[in-house]
Amino acid sequence: MFDDDKYYRHSGVIGLTGPINMTVFGTIAALVLGTVYGYAIRYIPFIYINLFITLGFGAGVGYFVGLGAKIGKVRNTKALLVFGFIFGCFAEYVGWVSWIFATSEQQRLALMPSEIFAVLQFLAEEGAWDIFGWTPKGLALYSIWTIEAIMIIGMSAGVAWFKLTSIPFCEECEKWIEEKHTIGPLDNITNHDELKEQLERSDYTMLNSLKKQEPVSDAYLQIDLVHCPDCNQNHYLTVKSIVTTTDSDKKEKTDVDNIIENLIITPDQHNTIKEQYMHTTETQPQVN
Ligand SMILES: [Zn+2]
Repeated sequence: MFDDDKYYRHSGVIGLTGPINMTVFGTIAALVLGTVYGYAIRYIPFIYINLFITLGFGAGVGYFVGLGAKIGKVRNTKALLVFGFIFGCFAEYVGWVSWIFATSEQQRLALMPSEIFAVLQFLAEEGAWDIFGWTPKGLALYSIWTIEAIMIIGMSAGVAWFKLTSIPFCEECEKWIEEKHTIGPLDNITNHDELKEQLERSDYTMLNSLKKQEPVSDAYLQIDLVHCPDCNQNHYLTVKSIVTTTDSDKKEKTDVDNIIENLIITPDQHNTIKEQYMHTTETQPQVN
């Protein structure tokens, strides 16, 4: 666990425009994506693709709720979680309206929740579709629908929550601090815990010993320095471990692990780190 006092933390401010923005973005995303979703699920017969569409639908709604929060300057991750959840539920509802409309060949527009439940009840008895020659009904179908709902609502809440967790906010200038100075790729080390422990007590022995990695391998470290350029305050340090692996299908996968994220440092420490790697920052891999 991170030692909370040593790291940047959102102030918890929600503000007035924040909820309005999240509501506007969440509503539009749920209506547009929910309509597309109902039709996509109705007409695309591939279960694996449908699975990704379901996850993508929830993630898309969460993304827009997060975007609304960012524009509305919401510095409260719990609020993001709550709004992501609410609009995930609304998106699920719109998805059902759209799917019933698509499945009934545009004959049945069920807008009221009671109407939707009546249709679902009917479908649960009859079966709504078949897969590999099996037509799920009753409890099996309700279970599938429940899992689908959890996926959509969970993704929406999770993605909304995640969107602003890593971006610090300058309370003095009232803006997100998105500019960052990236240093790396640097030598990979395996003892991440020790590096973290050292940095938390402002001991830079290990960090200073890291050299620029040449040639670049599939495992390296990267330093991100962040500070507010307007007031020249609020300096934070992030150290990431980036590992690229190739699986049996020859597909590359990059794992980014934050050894420390947004550790509070002094302007002097910021400058010292920056100067030390002055000549190693020409190549900046864009990994976030
Ligand atoms: Zn500032």
